[in-house]
Amino acid sequence: MTADGAARDAALRNLVERALGWADEHDGIMPIVAAGDPVLRTPADTFDGQLEDALLCRLIDSMRATMKAAPGVGLAAPQVGIPLRLAVLEDSAPVDPDVALARERTPLPFRVIVNPSYTAIGAREASFYEGCLSVPGYQAVVNRSAAIRLQGFDERGEVLDEEVTGWPARIVAHETDHLDGILYLDRAETRSLATHQAVAGLWDQPSPEHAAGALGFRLGSGRRG
Ligand code: ZN
Repeated sequence: MTADGAARDAALRNLVERALGWADEHDGIMPIVAAGDPVLRTPADTFDGQLEDALLCRLIDSMRATMKAAPGVGLAAPQVGIPLRLAVLEDSAPVDPDVALARERTPLPFRVIVNPSYTAIGAREASFYEGCLSVPGYQAVVNRSAAIRLQGFDERGEVLDEEVTGWPARIVAHETDHLDGILYLDRAETRSLATHQAVAGLWDQPSPEHAAGALGFRLGSGRRG
């Protein structure tokens, strides 16, 4: 390792210790960075052991607590100000059966993805409203691949190479995008942009078909109705 590399790793550890120190005084919860902060627009660093196991474990625990408290179904390290390719995911899918069916929203047990990447499998897309803890107050429709190949590692360094479909694929793609400095708004149908109140009041149908007609935006190909 170069002297530069050692200094960078020390700075990163320092950043993590500070974030965790803050969390220790706030019920284990870290503050979530909002859009406009460059950390959300900068590709995160590959994780290559910069944090020792115990520190990584504490960071993951605190990210999980922060995600649950928000509440959210995914949280990427840059969202708590840590520029590392690491994200936590968990979705108990507490939605009504019609919504769950239309959105293929199957439960996603808690998991950690490290240095993830994804590629589309097939051409089918799914178009649904999604939101982001770093863009509070709003949602927008994003056309995403209905099935993806996820590659990377888990928190123990085990290789991941699997097909992920439906809503879990959306979560994996959204969180992995964060690690590349991409926000969901970059991929959204911007005419669909709506406040949480508007979505709850007008566009809470299983699919955003009515919203597309009324607001004038495009739904992806092959979407299940
Ligand atoms: Zn997000």
